[in-house]
Amino acid sequence: MIVVMKVDSRQKEIDDILKRLAERGLTGHLSKGVERTVIGVVGQTYPELRDMLELLPGVEDVIPITKPYKLSSREFQSQDTVIRVGDLTIGGGELVVMAGPCAVESEEQLLETARAVKAAGANILRGGAFKPSTSPYAFRGLGEEGLKILAQAREETGMPIITEVVTPEDVGLVLRYADILQVGARNMQNFVLLDEVGKAGKPVMLKRGMSATIQEWLLSAEYILSQGNRQLMLCERGIRTFETYTRNTMDVSAIPIIEKVSHLPIIADPSHGTGKWYLVAPLALAAVAAGADGVMIEVHPSPDYALKDGAQSLTFDNFQRLMAQLVSVVASMGRKMAGGTNG
Ligand code: PEP
Ligand code: MN
Repeated sequence: MIVVMKVDSRQKEIDDILKRLAERGLTGHLSKGVERTVIGVVGQTYPELRDMLELLPGVEDVIPITKPYKLSSREFQSQDTVIRVGDLTIGGGELVVMAGPCAVESEEQLLETARAVKAAGANILRGGAFKPSTSPYAFRGLGEEGLKILAQAREETGMPIITEVVTPEDVGLVLRYADILQVGARNMQNFVLLDEVGKAGKPVMLKRGMSATIQEWLLSAEYILSQGNRQLMLCERGIRTFETYTRNTMDVSAIPIIEKVSHLPIIADPSHGTGKWYLVAPLALAAVAAGADGVMIEVHPSPDYALKDGAQSLTFDNFQRLMAQLVSVVASMGRKMAGGTNG
């Protein structure tokens, strides 16, 4: 349930409610919006609690949240979450473009890609140093060496970096290098990892599990939010269906659904969402038209030689073409590209 405070409620009244909740083994999460202050009550609630809370000074209303996810819901927070990464904002209306190779393979490969995507107008550099892999025989990433190369590319280009963290034990290490932590599809329900990134003081991007419903995805988001990390964005990266023509089925409908039911920013990843380079641009454009706050695109200097995900990686030329198309779609919607990219 959420406790809606009166406009003129005092801090002491809010503190009193938080204290009473704690006494009952419940947690109160405060959200101070422009229009109203609400306290999200998380834990095992019961009907009498509502009656008790309604009587307390400063309380305007107590509303049950019917959905199982609470802190990620629009009921808890009606305004969009806006995440700041350096000068960039994610979720504030501008389209953010994250681009880079699936995996960091070498200094040369990453720096070349970083320069190319930056020149084409990308805002954030992506690249995996710790790769979750379906097969144990596939490339599993350069580990800390890869993180160092990413940091070097940030130094040179000024682009913030997003990279995946695969195990709870590595969160501290990855945090020393990354600007945004990525939790991958295969780890969407790794609850210990979710708890750990929830304690991190940096933004997190939570990818949708390949067989996860939207509700399960939002419940995973809830793990991170309830640990106190509100700098959370979601990423639709395709789900598994009966279709074999594509690697995954990019669920474009998830984008407006998330926007409707949650205040969290939503990023679209048409690279994993389709698995085929020639489907990346059409689905990126569709996702933006559907309201995505950003896109994540895999780009490689020579996709044919990529150690991972070459089939879904764009060449530099194809990425540049996609950027020009994104500029038009964004303009047609009355939105702007982040970072002042205008093609
Ligand atoms: C990735 O972004 O490279 C990745 C492994 O994605 P996903 O977790 O969506 O498969
Ligand atoms: Mn990949």
